[in-house]
Amino acid sequence: MVDFSRQEVIWGKAGQEVLASTNLVVLGAENLGREIVKSAAILGIGEVGKGKIHVASNYRATAADMFLDLPFEEGSLVVRSLPSMISRLNPTTSIIPFHGDPTVHYLSHLGTIDGIISTVNDPRIQELVLEYASSKKIPLFLLSTDLCKGTLSPGIDRIAGYDGSIQGTIVSNIFAGVTLEECRKQLFLKNQRKFKDTRVMLRDGTIQEYFKVIGDDIRLDRAFTYSINGDRMGQGSEWMLGEGDLSGKKIMILGGGAIGNYVADILARFFPSRLDVVDFDVYEEHNLNRQPLAYGQIGRKKSEVLAERIRTISRGKTASQAFFAKIEESSSSKEAYRSIGRSWLELHPYDLLVGCFDRFDVRKFVHECALTLQTPYADLGSSPQGGRVNLYVPGKTRCLDCSYGIHQVYANDVILRTKHEAARARVVAGNPSGIDHLHCRDVEGSVNMSNQIVAGLFAGEMRKVFSSDYGNICDFLKYRGESGMKIQWEPDTKPCSCSGRKS
Ligand SMILES: [Zn+2]
Repeated sequence: MVDFSRQEVIWGKAGQEVLASTNLVVLGAENLGREIVKSAAILGIGEVGKGKIHVASNYRATAADMFLDLPFEEGSLVVRSLPSMISRLNPTTSIIPFHGDPTVHYLSHLGTIDGIISTVNDPRIQELVLEYASSKKIPLFLLSTDLCKGTLSPGIDRIAGYDGSIQGTIVSNIFAGVTLEECRKQLFLKNQRKFKDTRVMLRDGTIQEYFKVIGDDIRLDRAFTYSINGDRMGQGSEWMLGEGDLSGKKIMILGGGAIGNYVADILARFFPSRLDVVDFDVYEEHNLNRQPLAYGQIGRKKSEVLAERIRTISRGKTASQAFFAKIEESSSSKEAYRSIGRSWLELHPYDLLVGCFDRFDVRKFVHECALTLQTPYADLGSSPQGGRVNLYVPGKTRCLDCSYGIHQVYANDVILRTKHEAARARVVAGNPSGIDHLHCRDVEGSVNMSNQIVAGLFAGEMRKVFSSDYGNICDFLKYRGESGMKIQWEPDTKPCSCSGRKS
């Protein structure tokens, strides 16, 4: 069974119930369609006996196609293998495959549809589904990707310019995450009355009725395009993915949790020479709905599982070592795991460190190591409604203190957590009726969509650390779920004086 307790903290049992009873249609099973189905399943959409995820596609697998660490048989229909693959992630999801392009006849036999997500680049299918959804008043999301950019239309306009394009891994991850969050908002809004008895705690500690919060959610009202290349607005040449892009590169993932899972899955597809993982934790039931590479591995060390997955996904082209270790200044002999500090990182020179932590003290420490060792460092973070990527490249970008104010953010986080805990304790002690969850937008962990988006944004930017061919590095990228401008970036920043080599 999948434990959704973390999600219930964010939007209550009512929210999880809405997702479970959703009848969702996903059109297409190429890279983008598979990412949508994967994320929808681990989110808990379409629980057996309550809802369904219908997937229609006639796409046949190439030798390169993969789902997590599971390869498809070359030439086989991808939708045929999806139900058994998805059941490993979430055995309670009902996946109904259809081998073929969607037709009006097909759609009209699926019962009451709560939402359609079309991931096909073919404009004729988009036209058909646009007409069908508008006549039946079904929420529709049209999206397309190529190797460097993607477009999401909230069921208003057809998307031009993607016909025949290959859907890239990085962009597909970003757009799958953004679309599912928009889809979730629509589903919650449509079922607003189910949240009548659900109260939430806002970041300032006040309690509010959740159905009012849902009504205030800003939804996408126009098509939105993002490119990992060029001007980011979709202009510029299509970037062709090369296997050699990361050859010879040694990368370390610090933290094998929610974001670390997505980062490992994406980076392993680009075959760096080495992609090591450090983590001090083991997988538990409640990790499964945010950490897709953890399936079937409850009780095992996160670092070991991810290192194995990386070797499989890269088809043996990437070496990966697991470190069951805690990152800290000094080692402690009492702990069962080893300790990784500055001197250790100096002995193991990496080309890039990727911080996938959930704590600011560790982020601050690794950033200090990166400054001292002059090693590029990417710092990733997420919340239920957003996320960010900060990149530090010695002498080329700002340091994390100048771009993100990591010391101040750390201090604020300590205050916020203390306040939240106190407010939470008051509520628990008073036990006000009708409160079945305590939601705090910035404190209570993440959801899989934000993690997927943040990992994609990072991977798109990472290529620029190793080659300037892809454009200038942006050292601060943000995903803002509540904003109309989903992805934001700070353009044309100059390196700070603390960024270069320290004497
Ligand atoms: Zn600085």
